[in-house]
Amino acid sequence: MKAIYLMGATGSIGQQTLDILRAYPDQFRLIAFSFAQNLDAARAIVEEFKPAAVVVADSDLGQALLADFPELEQYTDLEAYAAHGDYDLMVNAVMGSVGLKATLAAIQAQKEIALANKETLVMAGDFVMAAARDKGVSILPVDSEHSAIFQAMQGLDRQDVKKLVITASGGSFRDKTRAELVGVTVAEALAHPNWTMGAKITIDSSTMVNKGLEVIEAHHLFGWDYDQIEVIQHRESIVHSMIEMQDGAFLAQLGPSDMREPIQFALTYPRHKPLQDSKPFDLTDIGQLHFEKMDLERFPMLALAFEVGRRGGSFPAVYNAANEVAVAAFLDGQITYLEIESLIERAVADHVEATELSLERLLEIDRSTREKVRGWLAQ
Ligand code: NDP
Ligand code: MG
Repeated sequence: MKAIYLMGATGSIGQQTLDILRAYPDQFRLIAFSFAQNLDAARAIVEEFKPAAVVVADSDLGQALLADFPELEQYTDLEAYAAHGDYDLMVNAVMGSVGLKATLAAIQAQKEIALANKETLVMAGDFVMAAARDKGVSILPVDSEHSAIFQAMQGLDRQDVKKLVITASGGSFRDKTRAELVGVTVAEALAHPNWTMGAKITIDSSTMVNKGLEVIEAHHLFGWDYDQIEVIQHRESIVHSMIEMQDGAFLAQLGPSDMREPIQFALTYPRHKPLQDSKPFDLTDIGQLHFEKMDLERFPMLALAFEVGRRGGSFPAVYNAANEVAVAAFLDGQITYLEIESLIERAVADHVEATELSLERLLEIDRSTREKVRGWLAQ
């Protein structure tokens, strides 16, 4: 029986993770979970899964939950439970860079980690992966593209892999020209053609920042150079990603757009167990699959992600921090869609690389970039 600490249990990945735990009650026990705001969903989780502990930063929400469930242990920060909790595997499904310190604490405590929270690796991939290697901790990918690559690589000799090919659906505006992006609304941006996900990642998919973050995530997770990572557009989202071997063979992972599959694989690794209530999947119903070159002029944020990834250091953290602030401002109606891109570009152009980058320095750069971009919003 594996004891699970699920960070971000009330979100899109969190709820789908609970589906897997529900399907395999003899193998997994939810020992602790975190949430930020959604008290009703948190209550429902406590009632159903009877965890020992909850992590919530807002003390009013914590008190409200304790009033109903006085036996529940309560923590106010993700990192404290990650460091001291009695769990076996952390599922990191929080949104944004708040997941970083808890991931590092889980590594120090030598826990297994299933990572959905890509911002953690984008921000501090060098530190996270070095710590994981040092402590012998495995980081299992949850993101569908990385899970696909991970699945395709099972049993292979790494030196025989030539290239990673990450697929991109193109997001909600893939058929719009740049001129047509002027004046698009939040509701239009949130209508993803293939996947139902949290709001921030849906916007990131449309700007191609999500794919940019995934390229940087892949670089860290699998240790490949940026020259060995390619992105292609694949509108059906059936091929979740692939690898090209030295001999020219391509190994791809295919399946329906159901995030529960990569989540479950991370939890049951190396087994591919039955996925409960999965919809029948028949390639003959799909009939055709399409692959197109990515248009980097149409999607400048993808080109910029390769650039910040290659520059390394704190550049990816700046790209990520500016994006998080810009997307929140767009969702809040403060800026237009295209201003997301210009804010990220401006933050990257304005950034002067720190000498002697430590983790603390990186967190400081994350903080100061957010402040700077918020300042630009207020102008
Ligand atoms: P959601 O927005 O649906 O959920 C985010 C979760 O994090 C919620 O539980 C939320 O709590 C919690 N949360 C939000 N802000 C904070 C904070 N400041 N401190 C602590 N907890 C917080 O996101 P998704 O599930 O879509 O995405 C989660 C992560 O997984 C992201 O990194 C995303 O890139 C990645 N991912 C998601 C995929 C998807 O299909 N959704 C696919 C691949 C990767 P509350 O609800 O209570 O506010
Ligand atoms: Mg993905």
